[in-house]
Amino acid sequence: MQFDDHADLDTSEVKDVRGSRIPGGRATVGGGLVGIIALIMGLLFGVGPEQLGLSSGDEEPAPAASSLSQVQQACRTGRDANAREDCRLVAVVNSTQDFWRQEFARRRGQYAPASTVFFGGRVNTACGAATAAVGPFYCPADRQVYLDLGFFDELRTKFGASGGPFAQAYVVAHEYGHHIQNQLGTLQRAQDGQQGADSNAVRVELQADCYAGVWAHNATRTPDESTGRPLITNLTDEDITDGLDAAAAVGDDRIQERLQGRVTPESWTHGSAEQRQQWFYQGYRTGDMARCNTFR
Ligand SMILES: [Zn+2]
Repeated sequence: MQFDDHADLDTSEVKDVRGSRIPGGRATVGGGLVGIIALIMGLLFGVGPEQLGLSSGDEEPAPAASSLSQVQQACRTGRDANAREDCRLVAVVNSTQDFWRQEFARRRGQYAPASTVFFGGRVNTACGAATAAVGPFYCPADRQVYLDLGFFDELRTKFGASGGPFAQAYVVAHEYGHHIQNQLGTLQRAQDGQQGADSNAVRVELQADCYAGVWAHNATRTPDESTGRPLITNLTDEDITDGLDAAAAVGDDRIQERLQGRVTPESWTHGSAEQRQQWFYQGYRTGDMARCNTFR
């Protein structure tokens, strides 16, 4: 994955609160909301709210935020994205949102942008307080994507994925897939409390994988707003393989095999390794979100 050295990065799409105390103070969480959110938050895990580290939040008050965050200081151009992991993630957020903004416009809709929050340790969200242990997630209540960058090491060490820059991009694009679903109203379908291989929860997750693939298909032909040229100049077959590999590594069957030594499809929440790969690839192959109907 290669970025245009001369493109400007838009750091306003990322809130970098790494290394700061949690902003926002107390979060209040309604019981119902937690249940709803748990499904969305458990990007990679099929676990309940307690295990997700959700609580009503009793953080110490945050001091005033510093004026410039790490990414604002370091991530200015595509050259920075080619050199630094956090800047690369900023660029992926930019590319993903550029694509969806243009895709919605093409369909005579309007895309509502969603920030990505880089955090470390704990963070308060409109979906409750979360720890890094939950993995990346999308909170529909505040319409933000939350990323602890340390997760990407775990993707390699704990989940056995090959990793690589595009594995990270896949994860980010999957979360933006949930944001698209939130705008289109499909995200709610995951809120029926069901799980299992045929559940709506799984279908929503697989659709987010498909949307990630749709972005990947279009990434190198989506003009960047600063230059009019694509921000991502090159995606190789190896990149796509890294994405497919990451999708498989977080499949419910793989995780269950590792954690409980057996596979129980009736408790799946995200789909099997094969399904996740299949749907990511379906989006990548077609580049068409209309081909992401996982509910059929
Ligand atoms: Zn998800």
